[in-house]
Amino acid sequence: MKVLVINCGSSSLKFQLIDSETEQVLAKGLCERIGIDGRLTYSPAGGSKHVFEDPLPNHTVAVSSVLSKLTDPEIGVIGSLAEIGAVGHRIVHGGEKFAKSTLLTEEAIKEIEACSELAPLHNPANIIGIRACQELMPGVPMVGVFDTAFHQTMPPKAFLYSLPYEYYTKYGVRRYGFHGTSHSYVSKRAAEILGKDIKDLKIIVCHLGNGASICAVDGGKSVDTSMGFTPLEGLTMGTRSGGLDPAIIEYIASKENMSLAEVLNVLNKKSGVQGISGVSSDFRDLEAAAKEGNERAKDALDVFTYRVAKFVGYYAAAMNGVDVICFTAGIGENDIAVRAEILSYLGFLGCKLDPEANNVRGEERIISTPDSKVIAMVVPTNEELAIARETVAIVG
Ligand code: ADP
Repeated sequence: MKVLVINCGSSSLKFQLIDSETEQVLAKGLCERIGIDGRLTYSPAGGSKHVFEDPLPNHTVAVSSVLSKLTDPEIGVIGSLAEIGAVGHRIVHGGEKFAKSTLLTEEAIKEIEACSELAPLHNPANIIGIRACQELMPGVPMVGVFDTAFHQTMPPKAFLYSLPYEYYTKYGVRRYGFHGTSHSYVSKRAAEILGKDIKDLKIIVCHLGNGASICAVDGGKSVDTSMGFTPLEGLTMGTRSGGLDPAIIEYIASKENMSLAEVLNVLNKKSGVQGISGVSSDFRDLEAAAKEGNERAKDALDVFTYRVAKFVGYYAAAMNGVDVICFTAGIGENDIAVRAEILSYLGFLGCKLDPEANNVRGEERIISTPDSKVIAMVVPTNEELAIARETVAIVG
């Protein structure tokens, strides 16, 4: 079956057409600046990248443009839309309602709408994408795959905040966790690569991209993760602060004469390694600056790696042990120095880095020594493939 995977943001839409039998990507691309002007980037497998500057006034036009490229006689990869057997949508927040991927019936879509309060920037955009596909591909089954679903196995001791309990029961204030599709895919893949049953493994997945989170996967189930009520909690990220003393929010609001919303905007968009360094949120820029002697860039890298190492320590304690530590996403897959620095804290667990094996980018590989008690590995994530697999599993 050919599955169209859609990841819809407020002004962007990423897509991949995947053949579920061969698991090959037939075409992929990105619509940007939707509602502003519009740019569509389209790459068929084995072909070159095409950029179209046609206007994209809304998401329906964006989906329609994607479909016309996929079926284009020259650069298309399918003869007609009838070849698309199903659509898989990435959805950010499934609240407590969705512990699994789901067929997008009218009822399910209404429930996702009800979760919008928990993810006001993301879920409404996801629903717009769903509606646009419904309009243009009526009758084609659609599946929602949630970033939060994998973490619904967390026990109350991991998901409850130490707040008055009624905030949880009345408003759903609890830890949900995100990047679940990636944590699930990477942990399963790690077990496959090692030739072991995931039920017998304690795995810590470090998803280190511009957004970053760590997950403790015990026997194939998420038992804790570093993001919480929103993706702001936990690690130091590209531009997000991660965890901090909440009293700072009021203090800065009063010192800088800002509203709470303005301070939260700073915590989301102007903090993290960008905020500390004043250089960039991109680790390549930070490392170049640190090499030239920029102390703040060096501090930003140190804060990032130190906090990742501490979370690995938390989760080793949470699971009473760890067998495998996986690195994934932009930084985890590509940043040799960051991986080495993180693992330099973890010798006490019995994890020994093999520096030569660690000299790798974007490839599945064990990077610990053969006698290391804990295996460290690089496992590139593939959220689109995971969404296509979930979609096929539900549509059949
Ligand atoms: P997201 O999906 O959260 O936007 P990605 O997983 O694509 O993020 O990660 C993007 C980040 O990965 C970049 O901001 C950069 O810091 C880092 N990155 C990408 N390539 C490299 C590289 N070769 N070396 C170091 N860091 C890299």
